[in-house]
Amino acid sequence: KTTQIAIYGKGGIGKSTTTSNLSAALSEMGYKVMQFGCDPKSDSTNTLRNGKYIPTVLDTLREKNSVKANEVIFQGFNGIYCVEAGGPAPGVGCAGRGIITAVELFKQQKVFEELDLDFVIYDVLGDVVCGGFAVPIREGIAEHVFTVSSADFMSVYASNNLFKGIHKYSKSGGALLGGVIANSINAPYAKDIIDDFVAQTKTQVIEYVPRSVTVTQSELQGKTTIEAAPNTAQADVYRSLAKKIANHTESKTPAPLEVSELREWAAKWGDYLLAMETGTIRTEQAG
Ligand code: ATP
Ligand code: MG
Repeated sequence: KTTQIAIYGKGGIGKSTTTSNLSAALSEMGYKVMQFGCDPKSDSTNTLRNGKYIPTVLDTLREKNSVKANEVIFQGFNGIYCVEAGGPAPGVGCAGRGIITAVELFKQQKVFEELDLDFVIYDVLGDVVCGGFAVPIREGIAEHVFTVSSADFMSVYASNNLFKGIHKYSKSGGALLGGVIANSINAPYAKDIIDDFVAQTKTQVIEYVPRSVTVTQSELQGKTTIEAAPNTAQADVYRSLAKKIANHTESKTPAPLEVSELREWAAKWGDYLLAMETGTIRTEQAG
């Protein structure tokens, strides 16, 4: 049976980096994995393929009018299957159309069954506001949803929006939330903020991922950290994440905060951090 997982999060927060390292770590454990990039930028799977781009489902469809699955599936590191849904020409139509089209195509051609996949991991854009990007949640395509979030307010805000989307569709067979992948957590207070946020919204942190120059170095080589720096502490963090996700069975409906509640919550943390800044409490610099 194929387990389908969707990773959301604010723009630039580390979704593709985390997803690619997760895919790489799962494949290292012996699982058959497909990474499904849903971003119109179509750069999700780059670090699984030495920095190389692959033709997207939508581009191929535009060129040929019909697409066979094997024309848009490319193998990367450790045999991981890589797909990029792609997007419409800039400024034309819904950017989420690529996901809808690609998912439909794979369903018709029974791709997941034929490849006998253990995991399909969707790397999806942050806001659920646009219909197309909500598809993995709304249609219940994903069994478990995870959000990548740092302790920054905008990132937490995006995660809370995602929780609202999940909450809304949870009554009609939508996907449920597995938890938060806390990224770029270096300062102690960053962990405290995320811990408090998941407590408020009745979810959990599945892994804390530090910000690390190893990730930057790996990316500059066009590789995941699992591939470029397998013997580092950072690679072990991604392996730990992969193990937890492989063993994860029960996702839940989160309890998103109202915008006013979220602002009040953030303001309280603001007061606390300011107290630290003025010397009442001392802490290290965030990474
Ligand atoms: P987008 O929304 O544009 O698709 P994204 O959420 O997929 O962005 P990434 O492209 O994965 O984000 O990451 C953005 C940048 O942050 C990259 O340069 C990546 O190497 C860096 N980055 C992400 N996580 C870490 C980390 N834990 N340590 C160091 N650098 C990181
Ligand atoms: Mg990305």
